[in-house]
Amino acid sequence: MSISKWFGLLTVVGCLLGYGQMASAQQSRPDDEITNLAEHVYLFRHHFHQSIVITTPQGVIVTDPISSDAARWLKSALTTLTDQPVRYVVYSHHHDDHITGGAVFADTALFVSHVAARPKILAAADPNTPAPTLTFTDRMAIDLGGQHVELIYTGRNHSDNSLVVLLPQHKLLFAVDFIPVETVAYRTMSSDYPDDWIDSLKRVEQLDFETLVPGHGKIGRKEHVQMFRGYLEALTTAVQEALKKGLSLEETKQTVRLPKYEQWQRYADWFPENVEGVYRYFSQRAARP
Ligand SMILES: [Zn+2]
Repeated sequence: MSISKWFGLLTVVGCLLGYGQMASAQQSRPDDEITNLAEHVYLFRHHFHQSIVITTPQGVIVTDPISSDAARWLKSALTTLTDQPVRYVVYSHHHDDHITGGAVFADTALFVSHVAARPKILAAADPNTPAPTLTFTDRMAIDLGGQHVELIYTGRNHSDNSLVVLLPQHKLLFAVDFIPVETVAYRTMSSDYPDDWIDSLKRVEQLDFETLVPGHGKIGRKEHVQMFRGYLEALTTAVQEALKKGLSLEETKQTVRLPKYEQWQRYADWFPENVEGVYRYFSQRAARP
């Protein structure tokens, strides 16, 4: 079924849930929302964060719980979709703005992450965020109730432990914070690895999917991966040229422009910060022995 058709169904779900305040939804979105992406697959949105949920006759697979409030809302909302418990919570990466709140599901769920996320989650020691009980290095599959879910590590990008969730049956990919759709990267990209990131996107481009669900913002399609790689390549090339010319950080921020991307979201405010982050990354890397 097409995405637009499923979105039509969503309004119905919102009304049934009674959380949607649908009367005012024309102007303001509800804080929390579940929408149908494909059969058994839902988008869960809490303010500006989002994740996916897969329901099956043998249990539910939740990805980022987002926050304790969000997770409590989700747990309640799920009872209108299924009588099955949450069996897995999959953390996209270790950042607490995406993975806090999983404790709500700890009575029934296993927690899954990339192997490099686990020590960081343990170090944060947040009682609302259970440590992963299952980790993997390159690839892991979850088969539950007829749904095949692949967790894949494509290398360092926005973090050193970001996984993607691939649903081959639905040709859908969920990726958080490293493939924004027609949006520049977040602020100064402070936890990021800009050069590895480009290789990571090339690996994502090898995967078989059509729909791209990011952790923030609008849903895209596979071509948005290549578009964002094009942006990162242009950004890193321009900044490295400025570094070669010996330009200071301020001079670089003044002169580097990428007009091709001016229409993208957050270009006006975050693009100069992207330039700054990439400048610092490459100048620090050059300074290393
Ligand atoms: Zn993040």
